[in-house]
Amino acid sequence: MEEKISGIVLGGTAFGENDKILNIFTLEKGVVSAKIKGVKKAGAKLKFAAEPFCFAEFVFSKTGDKRTVIGASLIDSFYPVREDLKKYFAAGTVLEFIKHFYRESMVSPDDFLLSVNALGDIAYGDDPLVPLVEFLIAALKDAGYALKLDGCFKCGKDIDGRTFFDYRSGAFYGEDCFDGSGREIHNETFKALCRAENGELLNGDEFAIKALKLLDYYLKNRAEEKLNSLEQLIQTFNK
Ligand SMILES: [Zn+2]
Repeated sequence: MEEKISGIVLGGTAFGENDKILNIFTLEKGVVSAKIKGVKKAGAKLKFAAEPFCFAEFVFSKTGDKRTVIGASLIDSFYPVREDLKKYFAAGTVLEFIKHFYRESMVSPDDFLLSVNALGDIAYGDDPLVPLVEFLIAALKDAGYALKLDGCFKCGKDIDGRTFFDYRSGAFYGEDCFDGSGREIHNETFKALCRAENGELLNGDEFAIKALKLLDYYLKNRAEEKLNSLEQLIQTFNK
């Protein structure tokens, strides 16, 4: 049986001498694994289709539940992510998020489009931080870990002074409503997250990196997921 499915290569592991087993996030079937043959030989026709970030229409031959890639036509390789370290780590964070949060055969066209759009904005835009912060806020929400960005979680008022964040609930509090569980953050970090949720975070925003650090802290403590690419991206800003 043959199957034609659009998908993004998340990564792959060597199999035998020349083959690989790929992890592919697809529009129609969620994350699937598929063997691809001979891609480690020089001049292999489908070599491009075995690379992470490759977005292609794949043709699989399917026997039982085992898939083998027999064809692929490239839609986008997001090439600029290979030429810029920050873009590379930002795009890598998107792939790692998918690997950690989207289980095999969990189908979500919305999350697929969210991921493709984020990769495109990271690759072809000027500032990879903005699309990454926007992606993480939206993707965490879909994964059941929404940040509560509608003002103070207790009284609902906008927060303008001292600001506190409780990672266990993903909620923010103003000084009057803070009950001691959580930590103080910069008010501008909270504001940058709010702007990002509304698609109003601008390139070069000095608080985008602080927003990203808060998301990293939240991922580690609430969702208990450490994304290596995200750690490396943050390190490039600490130098
Ligand atoms: Zn309040």
